[in-house]
Amino acid sequence: MAYWIPEGCIYCGNCFEECPNEAIYENEAADKYDIDPDKCTECVGFHSEPQCAVTCSVELPEPDPNHQETREQLLEKFKKLNPDKEPVL
Ligand code: SF4
Repeated sequence: MAYWIPEGCIYCGNCFEECPNEAIYENEAADKYDIDPDKCTECVGFHSEPQCAVTCSVELPEPDPNHQETREQLLEKFKKLNPDKEPVL
């Protein structure tokens, strides 16, 4: 399941800096950061916890019910996005 950022983002940029998949982008029209579900692996392959959720100043990022995936699917996504890397978690 990809993560998403609900309303309430204060544009601090912590998540943007920490995402290992570069899945987070500035949505200037909405004045907030957003997550590209095609690039989010819930940090599977890199970390034991979603780094955006861990570092968010206002604890916003949460699992996106519209993008549900198994751990296997997330690992496949990790491999597609990072063909030169081996998953560490
Ligand atoms: Fe990036 Fe991990 Fe957050 Fe997904 S859960 S957007 S991969 S930091």
